[in-house]
Amino acid sequence: NFGLGTWPARRARISPQAVALVEGDRSRTYAVLADRTARLAGHLAAQGVRHGDRVAYLGVNAASTFETFFAAWLLGAIAVPLNFRLSGPEIRYMLADSGSSVLVHSPDADALLAAAEPLPETVRVRIPAGPAFEAAVADSAPPERVPGVAMEDPAVLLYTSGTTGRPKAAVLSHGNLTWNTVNQLAHIDIRPDERALCISPLFHATGLGQITLPTFLKGGSVEPVAKFDVGEILRRIGEARITSFSAVPTMLQMMCEHPYWPAADLSSLVTVVYGGSPVQERVARAWLDRGVRLQQGYGMTEASPGVYMAPPEGATEHPVSVGVPHFFTDVAMLRDGSVVAPAGEPGPAEQAGAPGPAAPGELLVRGPHVFQGYWDRPGVSDEAFVDGWFRTGDLLAVGADGWATVTDRVKDMIISGGENVYPAEVEAVLLQLDEIANAGVVGVADARWGEVGAAYLQVREGADIDEAAVRTHLEANLARYKIPKYLVFVTELPANATGKIRRVELRARAAGLAA
Ligand code: AMP
Ligand code: MG
Repeated sequence: NFGLGTWPARRARISPQAVALVEGDRSRTYAVLADRTARLAGHLAAQGVRHGDRVAYLGVNAASTFETFFAAWLLGAIAVPLNFRLSGPEIRYMLADSGSSVLVHSPDADALLAAAEPLPETVRVRIPAGPAFEAAVADSAPPERVPGVAMEDPAVLLYTSGTTGRPKAAVLSHGNLTWNTVNQLAHIDIRPDERALCISPLFHATGLGQITLPTFLKGGSVEPVAKFDVGEILRRIGEARITSFSAVPTMLQMMCEHPYWPAADLSSLVTVVYGGSPVQERVARAWLDRGVRLQQGYGMTEASPGVYMAPPEGATEHPVSVGVPHFFTDVAMLRDGSVVAPAGEPGPAEQAGAPGPAAPGELLVRGPHVFQGYWDRPGVSDEAFVDGWFRTGDLLAVGADGWATVTDRVKDMIISGGENVYPAEVEAVLLQLDEIANAGVVGVADARWGEVGAAYLQVREGADIDEAAVRTHLEANLARYKIPKYLVFVTELPANATGKIRRVELRARAAGLAA
């Protein structure tokens, strides 16, 4: 068993007394982490959790998040981290879709869980973090036998939603996350004395993959952050002598625009890795000017997540570039239906066909960190690939030196504050209202969030509904970050002959809303 669940014990052989986790004024060494996760695994096994079962976690980043993951992984069970910013119905759907039998949740999730009632019947065991969680650890012994865990076995289900309207989970294996860790370590200088602040939420592949798992592999320490409080994080970086963190551009922007920014002590900070949405050059410059190694990553949940990463050398000349592909990553481009090598890409020669033109193209990815498919969605999974390459839905331009820039997105997705919003999902919720005959959702540029949504609503003839009623319905059924900032009532939506909404036209109209 070389699965992720064995990492604490493997690391404890090398540096048992090194600090693995910091939470408030408490810290846990690798020896303690290995012992606690083995006991928690014993508890889960006693509750009937077996290889392949799903163990959900709902809550803010905490030491218990990692302990739950490692314990599940040790048993070959699959961790299902859930986004605590979702609505009750969304949480209920994901628990049912994943067939989770255990739900570990932090106290701050109580209200959300109440809104998710009735929970699906598959959820047999609930463990609130806090005293109940501590008792489960303290009163249990490590499992008598741990099952074999293969690298191809699923380790996590990460819900990414999709263009079909219903959220779907990307299945990442132990091998996928391990290869991503190796890839990150080839680009980022993570050290045994690392003190990483885990700001990115652990229900996203970036939270787990960019800094956190690499830091555990190297024996550094990770401090989970429950809440993105900008001033508090800036203060904590200086106080705890933090050396690295990963974030989305919106977070970097909020930090460098905060009143405390000029006075913040960033002298301990070595590496800041970020990605997930386009960055403004002035934001990148603000961080580079503070002397940190700023490394932009580009990737996606389905790639665990890293695909491109900017090496630290060169970031000043290329502040908005995502750099070069990861070490064990092949890239290609899709052009007129055929797979071609990106121009300027100096990667392994056999990786793709003839070199393509320098113009941006849809990026294709292949590598041992790329997922196998979506949970329980065989058809959708097949469509995600072309000739064995994963279709990213993103347009990238590759320069003569191999450094790439993300230029556009061809998939129907909005990124608001680093969170993905799928127009199809929002439209489906809008159409649940009888009064709404048709709905079209598009993205609009936004100075703070990168993009926000704009919904165009066609009210059914003779029906009557106002903005407040629409908002009430959206708030009950969708995470707040998915709710369109603008609701526009129209008598007709631009559609083609088959009734399909012409988004290009809506997008052009919506551009005027932000002005
Ligand atoms: P997710 O599955 O949440 O990781 O979202 C992945 C998507 O976010 C990608 O397919 C891109 O559209 C977008 N994305 C990720 N990294 C970047 C980046 N550095 N610049 C621009 N867009 C990005
Ligand atoms: Mg993202």
